[in-house]
Amino acid sequence: MTGRVVIVGGGLAGATAAEALRDRGFEGEIVILGVEEHLPYERPPLSKSVLLGAKEAGTATVHDAAWWTEHDVDVRTGVEVQSIDLGGRRVVTNAGEESYDWLVLATGSEPRPLRLADEAGRPVHYLRTIEDSLALKEALGPGTKVAIIGAGWIGLEVASAARAAGAEVTVHESAELPLLAVLGPEVAQHFADLHRDHGVDLRLGVAVTAEDLADADLVVVGIGAAPRTDLAAAAGLDVDNGVLVDELLRTSDPHVVAIGDIANEAHPVLGRRVRVEHWDNAIGQGKAAAATIVGAAEPYDKLPYFFTDQYDLGMEYFGHTGPDGYDRVITRGDFSGPFRAWWVKDDRVVAAMQANDWDASDEMRASIGQPPPAG
Ligand SMILES: Cc1cc2nc3c(=O)[nH]c(=O)nc-3n(C[C@H](O)[C@H](O)[C@H](O)COP(=O)(O)OP(=O)(O)OC[C@H]3O[C@@H](n4cnc5c(N)ncnc54)[C@H](O)[C@@H]3O)c2cc1C
Repeated sequence: MTGRVVIVGGGLAGATAAEALRDRGFEGEIVILGVEEHLPYERPPLSKSVLLGAKEAGTATVHDAAWWTEHDVDVRTGVEVQSIDLGGRRVVTNAGEESYDWLVLATGSEPRPLRLADEAGRPVHYLRTIEDSLALKEALGPGTKVAIIGAGWIGLEVASAARAAGAEVTVHESAELPLLAVLGPEVAQHFADLHRDHGVDLRLGVAVTAEDLADADLVVVGIGAAPRTDLAAAAGLDVDNGVLVDELLRTSDPHVVAIGDIANEAHPVLGRRVRVEHWDNAIGQGKAAAATIVGAAEPYDKLPYFFTDQYDLGMEYFGHTGPDGYDRVITRGDFSGPFRAWWVKDDRVVAAMQANDWDASDEMRASIGQPPPAG
């Protein structure tokens, strides 16, 4: 197992692919090209422990420099890949050119911008990188007036951290409930209650205006992320809401795989395409891409999984309700915990979650595809 693997993007997916290649005995060259000035790191702590000041940013690093050296992985930071020549099997970077036998695209996603916020004349924060997290942490303090636009996962985790810092928090959300599209009204209502109980001024079903932001000390925009597909599209790879890949993570070019936030996979179990912007997917697809490269051909068939921490609530969500939605939700327990919920379609569980009930993880994961619990 030799050859030269070039990985574009030094995030969790790219780092995991490199590690998994070595685990599988790949003896060729591995080069990670990442535009950030950091070794690969994990992002979930950026809106949780790092933002809360409970952990240093360095603790989010996947492996230290010595580990990468020991495993003979050439991690180059501050290197941006600018174009891909599929026919010539090489990439052009701001530092030169790199040839490859296999190219792994793992360019992740970036926050969707909101012009209205940028034009409001208040300091605006987005949250994707270590620098973003440290800058936001620095700006949060007792009495700071924080306006958050978007009650998605990032917006709500920032609200939680901002309240912990003693800030006054207003959240503006256009939907009638936070996380409505993912959770549906039955469980989303619990998140609305959770934040109001913690003193957040949650404004739902509103179109935020520049006047709404006028007296904020700072504005946080959390209206979702977009996959970074420009590079792939310009190279001529098939792109449609992410880079299109099959169940082995292969793109429309036989020497290129795509993984993590950018990969829109033909999922073998769900039976449809799915693009997942979550931590567990970055790890799982990194491993599966390594299998594809060494010829082991192990389809990536894991179901989506997500976790969040807000205030004292820790929750995990398994599965995917998908475009067909669900017929009903069964819940057990109190949302402050322990709490369980099952989303049911055609008498089968399509998604499940637990809150503050960590012993339930395996059972909830295993419930997907099964008949629902009675009730
Ligand atoms: C604040 C925050 C909190 C999160 N919390 C959770 C959570 O609680 N649970 C959960 O499941 N998921 C969470 N996520 C999502 C999770 O972090 C992502 O799904 C994961 O980071 C995706 O990994 P990735 O490697 O695909 O992309 P990324 O982590 O985005 O890494 C891609 C890397 O590629 C680099 N890059 C892009 N283009 C180029 C180029 N042309 N040349 C070189 N380098 C390039 C980028 O700079 C970046 O470093 C969170 C995300 C954020 C931002």
